[in-house]
Amino acid sequence: MSILSARYIVEKEFIRDYTVKQIDSKLYHGTLKGSLYCPTPNCPSRVSYVNGLRPILKTWNKDDHDPDCEHAFERLKGRVGIDTTQFIDVELSPERKKRALKDALAKYNMSEDEIEQQRQKRTTKKDNPTTIIRNSKPSANLVLTNGEEVAGVGNTGFRGPNLRKRTPDMLKDLDENQPRLIMGLVKDVRLIESTAEVVVIEKGVETHVKFEEVFYANSPTYSGLFHLIKRYKSEMTRVVFTGIGQVRLSTAKTHYELSVFNGEDFEVNGMILTTLAAYYRGA
Ligand SMILES: [Zn+2]
Repeated sequence: MSILSARYIVEKEFIRDYTVKQIDSKLYHGTLKGSLYCPTPNCPSRVSYVNGLRPILKTWNKDDHDPDCEHAFERLKGRVGIDTTQFIDVELSPERKKRALKDALAKYNMSEDEIEQQRQKRTTKKDNPTTIIRNSKPSANLVLTNGEEVAGVGNTGFRGPNLRKRTPDMLKDLDENQPRLIMGLVKDVRLIESTAEVVVIEKGVETHVKFEEVFYANSPTYSGLFHLIKRYKSEMTRVVFTGIGQVRLSTAKTHYELSVFNGEDFEVNGMILTTLAAYYRGA
């Protein structure tokens, strides 16, 4: 649930409420920073203001909400209990996401023969009796947390579930509202003001990749760079998109969409958008 307003409190005294729209960078950094609190009365969590195309308020890094606060779940995500049957929400580290994107591109570019070879290698490994099957681990939910830090995961020694890789033609009901890595060919880049929609296609099936509010809050430097993908697409015969985000069905239910939350979470031919921008600056 997004935080729409904040209480401005100075020396424990409530001064006034601020909605997101009433704040700008200057006011925030000059006056409000550190003194804005969650809108829920008596909730001790501070909130920070993140400027971007559409500014947002988010939970102050490592502050905890009151357990009864409607925004509390954000901070409780990833908390690990003793009960091993419970679900744990696991967020992928930036390093793991990066590796997953590289792996996906390599896999996507592999020939049928190479895929078969790799499959056989894996099957051989599975038959190895020394392989330990761990089944006492708690189940894990993979989550994408819009850039929020997730507590507890780092010191559990729990590696977390694998991010599932899909091409647009493979997506089905089960993938809805789940984090997925999508890979496929870029068919089209539609520029819409300073954002864009990247149409990824596989076997005639499209997934439309969206970059929304959260994306620009996390990666404000990316707005206005999307035309470079369009340009790159016009110059290259083959552009492969790999990206991590949340899958959903389009409003018209005609295709799936992937909402990406971070600039580093997607690549074209193995390049993040800022790398592509550097490539054109150098050219
Ligand atoms: Zn709160």
